[in-house]
Amino acid sequence: MREQLCQLPKIDKILKEPCFKAKNPSLLKQIAQEQIHLLRQKLLTNLPLPPYEDILTAIETAYENLLTPSLKPIINATGVIIQTNLGRSVFSPKLLDGIFPLLCEYNNLEYDLQMGQRSERYEHIKQSICALLGCEDALIVNNNASAVLLIANTFAKNKEIIISRGELVEIGGSFRIPEVIVSAGGILKEVGTTNKTHLKDYQNAISSDSAMIMKVHQSNFKQIGFTKEVLFEDLSALAKKHELVDYYDVGSGFIAPFAGIDEPSLQEIASKNPSLVSFSGDKLLGGPQAGIIFGKKHLIDQLKKNHLLRALRVDKFSIFALSAIFRAYLENDVESIPTLQMIRQSEEELLAKAKQLAELLSPLPNLCCEIIALSSKAGGGALSAQEFPSYGVALTIPPIKPQILHTKMRLKGLVGRIQNNKIILDTRCLQPHHFKQIQDIFAEIIDEENNAKSPIKNA
Ligand SMILES: *Cc1c(COP(=O)(O)O)cnc(C)c1O
Repeated sequence: MREQLCQLPKIDKILKEPCFKAKNPSLLKQIAQEQIHLLRQKLLTNLPLPPYEDILTAIETAYENLLTPSLKPIINATGVIIQTNLGRSVFSPKLLDGIFPLLCEYNNLEYDLQMGQRSERYEHIKQSICALLGCEDALIVNNNASAVLLIANTFAKNKEIIISRGELVEIGGSFRIPEVIVSAGGILKEVGTTNKTHLKDYQNAISSDSAMIMKVHQSNFKQIGFTKEVLFEDLSALAKKHELVDYYDVGSGFIAPFAGIDEPSLQEIASKNPSLVSFSGDKLLGGPQAGIIFGKKHLIDQLKKNHLLRALRVDKFSIFALSAIFRAYLENDVESIPTLQMIRQSEEELLAKAKQLAELLSPLPNLCCEIIALSSKAGGGALSAQEFPSYGVALTIPPIKPQILHTKMRLKGLVGRIQNNKIILDTRCLQPHHFKQIQDIFAEIIDEENNAKSPIKNA
């Protein structure tokens, strides 16, 4: 055995190989050592040592794999616009063009150029939000979960937050309102029942321990049947009467005008004189991950004094991106906000896209495809009950099973779904430059399949 271990190539020799000349020596050494360690273990279990050339190739592959970014662009053919797993909202190149110079230079993120002194990073967005929503003040944090945490911690530490049993929501990825309130040091005071909560339930719960009345939007589910929830404006009035804070976690939120959405817009909510409201930056707003808080200035001032804000604060990337998005809203520039564009597409446009896709895919050998009517979703816990009619294609490549075909597609950066043993590509989230890419992906898959079947032809 000792003798065999002596056959292991020496690290020094490997590092001097011409094929590794351009590589970072310390990283290369680390990877070579790991590979040699694996080979040693193989030898100890009596497996043979591979040829020296293969060892070099394995080291090179491990090196390249480490330096290949694992984040890749994906073509979203699921039809779900706000897909948390696929990065939620996408940006238009036009907005990013404006952000680019800011990232490559120093900037006045927290610097007042007039006075030559420190200022707040929130200043860069506050005015746009206030202009858009007609509110007094605004603050930005890392995400909407942070907003809930910060607000509960600031106003209800060791105090009660009154909330309906119908609104103790769980969002995907382990965010649950009751747990966040407890983490923030607040005391949850549940009122009403799962399906019905009345104003008097809130009224009766108010005591000297109460600090806040909170409403949470039922963003990712819908209650139907024998149900009742209290309007935010009524809760807001009740809270103000008892000198409590009223807070509405709207979840996604959206900015009007917005065709065909049957939920109150952020402008409408803002017009009800709320104390505090929060929503996500990367759901229907179509911006970066962020939590946007707006409402009364004296309360936002208190949030700013909470040391937790330092832990939850947003970086300059998010500030640049958010301010660009809000400016686009102020200019009604829908073209710069892909999330809005995707929602607003007409059925005619979607059908035209499906026809275009089918025309590109149909000529591919072995590929069978047809245009189908679909129904897509906003996703991301937004507009859960609302279906958006859409069009797409259903396709098969007969010898390849749909699950296997979908895996091959995913590895090439295309995600759709499987329905009735067919691959479904919904065109709602597809942009013009994706069509040729999709055609290329399927052409490659078909090619690879043919080559695998006839290895002689390939040799
Ligand atoms: C999505 C959502 C959150 C969490 O927002 P993130 O920005 O994902 O942190 C909180 N509350 C509600 C009601 C939501 O829909």
